[in-house]
Parts: sequence; C-alpha cells; structure tokens
Amino acid sequence: MIKKPVHDYSELSRGVAQAHALWTPEDGTEAEFQAFVSENLCTTDSARRELFESLSRIFENCYEAADKLNVELLRPTQLTNAAEPQTSDWIMSAYNPLAHFSDDMFANKLAFLTIINFPHYTLEEKNDLGRNWTREEWAMARMGDIFTTRVPAKVTQQMAQAYADAENYIAGYNIHMDALRTNDDRQLWHSNKVLLSHWNLRDELKALYADKDGQEKQEMIYQVMQRIVRQEIPQAAISYGEYIWKPYEQYTETEPFTRYERILDVAHAYFAEDPYFPAAPNAIIRNFEEGVEISAAELDSLFRALIGSPQVKKVADIIRERLGRDLRPYDIWFDGFKARASLNEDELTAQTRQLYPNAQAFAKDMPRLLEQMGFSKQDAADIASHIVVEPARGSGHAWPCLGRDEDARLRTRIPENGMDYKGYNIAVHEFGHCVEQVLDMYRIDHYMLSGVPNTAYTEASAFIFQQRDLQLLPKSQITNVKSQMTNDKWQMANDEVLDQFWSMYEIMGVSLVDMAMWQWIYAHPKANAKELCAAVISIAQAVWNKYYEPVLGEHDCVLLAIYSHMVNAPMYLPNYPLGHIVQYQLEEHLAQFDTPAAFAAEYERIYRLGRLTPKIWMQQAVGANPSVTPILKVVDEITRR
Ligand SMILES: [Zn+2]
Repeated sequence: MIKKPVHDYSELSRGVAQAHALWTPEDGTEAEFQAFVSENLCTTDSARRELFESLSRIFENCYEAADKLNVELLRPTQLTNAAEPQTSDWIMSAYNPLAHFSDDMFANKLAFLTIINFPHYTLEEKNDLGRNWTREEWAMARMGDIFTTRVPAKVTQQMAQAYADAENYIAGYNIHMDALRTNDDRQLWHSNKVLLSHWNLRDELKALYADKDGQEKQEMIYQVMQRIVRQEIPQAAISYGEYIWKPYEQYTETEPFTRYERILDVAHAYFAEDPYFPAAPNAIIRNFEEGVEISAAELDSLFRALIGSPQVKKVADIIRERLGRDLRPYDIWFDGFKARASLNEDELTAQTRQLYPNAQAFAKDMPRLLEQMGFSKQDAADIASHIVVEPARGSGHAWPCLGRDEDARLRTRIPENGMDYKGYNIAVHEFGHCVEQVLDMYRIDHYMLSGVPNTAYTEASAFIFQQRDLQLLPKSQITNVKSQMTNDKWQMANDEVLDQFWSMYEIMGVSLVDMAMWQWIYAHPKANAKELCAAVISIAQAVWNKYYEPVLGEHDCVLLAIYSHMVNAPMYLPNYPLGHIVQYQLEEHLAQFDTPAAFAAEYERIYRLGRLTPKIWMQQAVGANPSVTPILKVVDEITRR
C-alpha cells in the first residue's frame, strides 16, 4: 500500500511566500531570507513530522508555563484562600507573560521556521480541504495559525488604549433611579438605586415582572434606554444623583455623542491594524473568520432563520396570555417563564449546603458526579484528578489548562454557610467547562488540536451539565438508568426551553445590530460620532421593524442598540446565541444514546474532536452544519401541545 504523503510538496512555496511577506529588513537581506529557507525548509515527510513534534512541545511548554505564572500572579486578586491583594498584586494582575512572545519568536526566527513549513490556511480552505484532512494534517494546519501577523507595538498600544477607554466609559455609566421623575413630578424609585447601563437597567426591568404594579417603572426604564441609545440623557444626570430629571422630556444639555466616540476610537485602532493582516484585512473578518471561525454572513442567516420563524409568534402568544396585556417592546426581556416551577429551592439549598460546605467538598464529589453522568469509575477518577476547585473572589468561572502538566480550574463562590442551590447550579455549569477542557487536553491526539472551535462550544458543554444538575444530586440515584435517560426528567422543563428560546430571540436581534454597525463603519471610515449615532439608530430600527414590530409593536424602536457590549466588547454578542445553537444540536444528537454509559462515551468522542473549525467539528460531531432547526423543532412541539 502506498502511504499518502502528509504534505503536498507542490505547495512548498505557500509557506515560503507567507514568510516572505512578513520578513522585514531588520530580519535580514533578501539573500539571507533565501539562505534561511534553503537551510530550514523540510523536504521529506519524516523531517517535517519531527519538526512538527518539536514545535508542538515548544508551544505547549511556553503556553503552559506562561499560564502557570499567570495563575500564581492572579491568586491574591482572584481567590479568597490567598494573601490579601497588595498594590503590587494589582499591578501584576494586568501583566501578560506572553505579551512579547510573538515579537521574540520573529526575532529569533522560530516564527519563520514555523511558517515556511506549516503554512496558514484560510477558513474557507479549512472548511473545504479540511473535510479530507487526517488528524495530523489538521494539527499541522493549526500550527499555521500561530504566526500570521506582526503588529507593531505602537498599533497594539493604540488598541489597548481604545479598549480601556471604552471599558471605563461603560463602567462609569450609571443611572440614579431616585433622580427620575414622571412628567407629573412623581418619583417612582425611593431608595437610592444606582443602575449600571445596560446590565443593571435590564435586570431591574426583568425583576419588575414579579411586581404587579411594576409596569410604570418598566416603561420608564425603557424610555431611559432609548435616550441612552440616542444620546439624549442630560449630561449632568450621568452617574450623578443630585440632578433631578424627567426621562419623558427632551433635554438640550446632553452628552456629546461620547458612546459613539468610544466606538469610533476602537474602529480607528482597527483601521491602524488592518494593513498588518493581508489575509484578513478588516476587523470583521478577523473577528468572525479568524476568531469565531464562522463568517458574519453565515451567522446573520442563522439568526434570521430563528428570529423570523413562526415559532416566535407562538411563544409571544404564551407570554401575552401570562401577562394578560398586549406586549410592549421591553417584553424581549420577559422573565415570567418560571423555569422549574415545581422546584422547592429552599429544600434544594438545604441539601446543597449540607453536601458542599466548602470548595473541597465539591472537589471530592466530582468523581461521583461524573459517574452519574455515565463515565466509568476509572474515567471519572482520572478526569476529576485534573480539575482543582478554588474559592473565587468574584463570580464563578472555569480557567482552562494550557498544557498536560496543569489542572483545569473550577472557581466557585461558596458562602460561610455552604453552597446554596443557585451556586450549585453555576458550579455544575463551570464543571461542564472543566470536563470539556480535560478531555480535549489530556485525551487529545495532537496538542495543536487541544481545545474547542470557539467559546460557544465550551458553553454548550457547560449547558449540557448544568441542565442535569438535579439528576446529579445524590438523592436522585439512578436505579433504572434507561428510563432516567429517556423520560422527561432528563429533558429540560418546557418553560426552560421557552425561556432560552425567547432570550435567543432577543440576543440575536441585538447581535445583528452589532454586526451591521461594523459593516457600516467599514463602509464609512470617515464618519464622525454624530453620523455613527444616526446610523446605529436606523440599523436598530430596521431590524426592529422587520422582526420585532410584528410581534411586540412600536414602529422604529431603537431598543436593540442598548447593549454595552457594542461599546466595550465589539462583535462579541453573537457568541451567546451560538452557544445555545450548538447545545441544542448536541442535545438532539445525544438523546439517541439511551444509557448513561453510551451518552458519556459519545460526549467524550465529540469533545475529543478538539479545535477543528466550528463547521467541521459539527459535521464530525452530529453529521450536520450549525443549525437552528433542533431548537425550532423543540419549541414547535411545546407550543403545539
Ligand atoms: Zn460558561
């Protein structure tokens, strides 16, 4: 049998051309470049393989060592079982050991050695050629993604500054609710509630669904939000409590389009970066095709398929019935789907507090949780041995391992009197991240393929675990495994599905506005903040009028442009709905495996696919491209009943 070569040597010039494009006079003369190439270009499979193994070890060592240092330096500021953070700790918490890694690797020419032998492939090529690649070819292609650009420090600094300014602007944008008045001078909030835009404003609006007289306040928050988008808040009222104002009245002394100034600063930093990315010449391509690895156009049509579906109106009918009134635009944040209404949360909290008085107790219980998911005793013990549980200062999170001599870190916040049910639910979510991280690091065939395609794919794993939190409590010991896996208990409660569907409907519209704004910015590179504001308003109105007005009313509503992410996390929003899309596809597929052992084996097979592109991963996981069909099907079944 003839062995297929791992590399098409007619393509040798590809890597050389890519390296040549990045070679500067400081690196050497043209003759020196040619000499470097003839000395270092592998011309046989075995030489190339040896180099690949050696580089893989080098990258694993560098990334892992840097991460371990990071973890240690961040201990005081991130964990409660560490020293009280000092000024020095805060300084080092912003330190990035890998900040100059790329520069160093170009300077010592390891980057050029990598590029000439392991060229970069575009997303389109990966999705096309990658269908027939071996695992090794995939891993080699991933190596080709490491050094694709050399951005000068000055440009990187401009970017960091623009991000920091945007972050500070958002962090300082508070609305003092007790300073608000109705047009007839009534004060609706009496305590000095200070709400950060948009998160706290949205959460207050959501919480008001539980208050039977809450609608007048909801209307006022809605009014404030629209004024924020339009930049019509009186300047004196921003983060200042003494200035009394009426959201229904038009003011003239407003802020000078600062929200859009901050976005433009980021845009200008992107423009400065653009020339250094010949293969991805704008930030939209870099974010979607190189970051998320699904093109903006594809996400756009995925989202429109859901928000334009007939299911939306059916779910809206249910909401209208529950509210007993016509729907309003802010009902995109309807919070009345009582997920798991039958739960007695106090009882559950009593149980979780007793089970998990501290982080160690949760750590000790991890093998049992995994066994309950269907992993063998041996696998459960092995996976759990690579996860440490640590008490977080801030919110719970999972910190991935970057090498096979490092643990995945499950960070959770446990109060003095033990873990309450909500904390347990979040801990199980983070546990789902950690299990994914262990499987696709410790059980992966090539280090270069460790990880998942993008953040949405690790979220899907976290959701899969989180959904099963009740079944993982020891009380519900599985006696008849088969029926437990297939009966309703293993499935999400209907209201929980509807809740997620409705929040996808909301965040997909918000994402479309964010994405369309960046298209507009690149089409109008000379625009000023006032023009950008006008453009965002008309973009938000267009999305609203097409997909939301028919369901929620109000022509030309601008609510979809309120998210702060649009300012401080450009183009990040689409990751949220993508996580749910992936989750439902996996759930639908995994439901065919009707014993816990078969379920766990399939879950592991899928998460050991590693960092393929999102499409190829999905094709190999469930036999289909990313799609909203599974969630639409579930919602259709529920609304039919
Ligand atoms: Zn998560």
